[in-house]
Amino acid sequence: MSSLSWQDVLKHQVHDNQKLVDVAQLGAKHLCTAHERHIYPKVDDLKRLGSFEEDMPDSMGNFDDIIHLLDEQGGPNTVAMTGGRYFGFVNGSLLPIGLAARWLGDAWDQNTAMNVLSPICGKLEEVTQNWLVDLFGLPESTVAGYVSGTSMATYCGLAAARIHTYKKLGWDWHQKGMYGAPQLRVVTSSQAHSTAVKALGLLGFGKECIEWVDVDDQGRLDINQLPELDESTIVVLQAGNVNSGSFDNFDYICEKANEVGAWVHIDGAFGLWAECVKSRKHLTKGMAKAQSWSVDGHKTLNTPYDNGIVLCRYPDAIISALHMSGSYIVNSESRDGMYFTPEMSRRGRIIELWATMKYLGREGIDAMIQNMYERALQFEQELSEAGFEILNEVVFNQVMVAAENDDLTMNMLENIQEERVCWCGPSTWFGRKVIRISVCSWATTSRDVTMSVESFISSREKAVQNLQKEVS
Ligand SMILES: *Cc1c(COP(=O)(O)O)cnc(C)c1O
Repeated sequence: MSSLSWQDVLKHQVHDNQKLVDVAQLGAKHLCTAHERHIYPKVDDLKRLGSFEEDMPDSMGNFDDIIHLLDEQGGPNTVAMTGGRYFGFVNGSLLPIGLAARWLGDAWDQNTAMNVLSPICGKLEEVTQNWLVDLFGLPESTVAGYVSGTSMATYCGLAAARIHTYKKLGWDWHQKGMYGAPQLRVVTSSQAHSTAVKALGLLGFGKECIEWVDVDDQGRLDINQLPELDESTIVVLQAGNVNSGSFDNFDYICEKANEVGAWVHIDGAFGLWAECVKSRKHLTKGMAKAQSWSVDGHKTLNTPYDNGIVLCRYPDAIISALHMSGSYIVNSESRDGMYFTPEMSRRGRIIELWATMKYLGREGIDAMIQNMYERALQFEQELSEAGFEILNEVVFNQVMVAAENDDLTMNMLENIQEERVCWCGPSTWFGRKVIRISVCSWATTSRDVTMSVESFISSREKAVQNLQKEVS
């Protein structure tokens, strides 16, 4: 061994031993068992996480040992989000085609900053942009930036809004920055997603700068309380309330905004995809009248994680917000990805987004999301029949459930999480504790829903006993 250079040792691992293929097999095995295993790591597994605690090693490690450690101790401590019974947050599963494309793309290890760095990724970014514009029915001028998720997409959309609005008011943000700038207005609902509020904060709009509008009983911005808008206003709306799944009234609000030249950004992390589902399309009516949109691939569309998209009607505005230059930069004739994202170097996340969309086609997207909706309706029905209260109108993929009182609901949730048949998280809805169900996996079957409802029922029984014990 000592006669080999250390590069020879590394090459040997890839070429001769087929180690990468073996690792892919481990991954495939993990994925295939995710549908049947317990959803959340068991207590004993969690304890084994201690095997990762060590000081930074001095000497080089062993390839096999490292992969073995990950597989043996890491694998059991993953959450089975790729299966059919993970209903926490709004977390998408993974279609095999997306994973396969990503694996290939990872081996390519492309940097997608500029076309000159990766002709294939540049082409896929352009093609997918056209598909997205077409699928969502957006204005032809719309451009896409491929970012890590909706948090970043919203940040980019609002950065474009800020530059554009200042420019209209005669203020050159690039040269003058924030000192002495005219005041912009920001209007959003009291139930705007916390990542939109965070993006606004990063862009210099503190909570007191925001005009908060009350919501109706489903968490939609109450249009009767919408303030007068003007050309200095940025409005942030949402397609898919993170609790109820409800949609703001885009048609009405965008009309009002467009009359006076205000900018509307729609946070559609999971809900923008309703536009692609025949039976749900009414929910997004009027959304194309907005100026920018953010949406995830990794939620409803079930691409692997690290997949968000910002869409902007005005290429100039987003390019102006995210442009950079340098003596060594090589621009291409078509789009260079980095002018639509905050980063320069970026992994080729477009590969799995493109592959997933090509695989599903319009029909596949419609069918996959329609199933999520139908499974949500099934939850509503079976839980109601079992005597639970459903607190929202189930219009998309979100269901909010409560037992008779907050203590019972929260104790029941603990039991559900302990049973590990499914996983749901808590929330608060108009002051009341609820359990949130988000159906966001292609893999959820009606059996998965029934099994989960059974876990809800047995968990309620346990909760009743637990609370009685506490009293006596
Ligand atoms: C999940 C979510 C976000 C944040 O998206 P990330 O991809 O996690 O950054 C924003 N808005 C809504 C409505 C969401 O559901």
